[in-house]
Amino acid sequence: MTWALALHGGAGAIAERTYKAEEAHMMGLIEQGAAMLARGESALDVVTAMAEALEASGLHVAGKGSAPNAAGFVELDASIMDGSNRDAGAVAGLRGFLSPVRAARAVMEKTHHVLLVGEGAAAFSAEQGLARVDDPKSYYIAAESGLPGAGTIGAVALDTSGRLAAATSTGGLHGKMPGRVGDTPIIGAGCWADERAAVSCTGLGEYFMRVNAAADVSARIRYAHQTLEQAAGGVIEDVRRFGGYGGLIAVDAHGNVATPFASQGMKRGWATSAGAREVKTF
Ligand code: ASP
Repeated sequence: MTWALALHGGAGAIAERTYKAEEAHMMGLIEQGAAMLARGESALDVVTAMAEALEASGLHVAGKGSAPNAAGFVELDASIMDGSNRDAGAVAGLRGFLSPVRAARAVMEKTHHVLLVGEGAAAFSAEQGLARVDDPKSYYIAAESGLPGAGTIGAVALDTSGRLAAATSTGGLHGKMPGRVGDTPIIGAGCWADERAAVSCTGLGEYFMRVNAAADVSARIRYAHQTLEQAAGGVIEDVRRFGGYGGLIAVDAHGNVATPFASQGMKRGWATSAGAREVKTF
């Protein structure tokens, strides 16, 4: 039975520091996600669980590790997509909740909408009983360690029933303008899953929006008959060519994995039913 899983912890990794804690945590998650997929759990549940754990780790700029915007508060963005039926959900500019990806999944499953923002997203998250962060400072665990936080988080998976799913979550760019929304909660830009590929992006969101990055990976496979590796690499080359930086993780319906990036590093890991198990930053 074929399955595949890939995770990322952002393309903002810098060569001056090491990422041992992040890598060890990610390897634990890779093992856990691999076991879930091997016993037949759905790609959607696996990417939700992986993204939620990455958000809660405080090791990345998402969920608990998020950094404040220029006005000093945290605004979170997240998205999720089920490639088997193109269901999708997202939140943007969410304040005060621990797991934006849980909020995104609730938007997908409990509303007729795809994207909720700001106060509406917060009111809906409260209605759903999602865990709150009452002290906004508790978001900044990674930042307070004195080391720059780096990175959105993401998860993509192919399950043994052939379904693909993707999830992406971020605190966005450090010092972003209040109200600024990047690619992360935009279906097609920062997150995409269909019957061909599941993709999660990280990097300068404005560039990923301008090349419609995540959906373009699948489009290249569909219309240009590219391999996953060619398609994913081509999209990151577009981001780089227009002056941006970043990377993405992708899996296809055959269980291939691609993790291209144009930046100093990208915290990433993957596992496949063919026996691959890898976690790397550079
Ligand atoms: N893509 C995210 C954004 O632009 C940031 C990141 O991936 O680090 O909000």
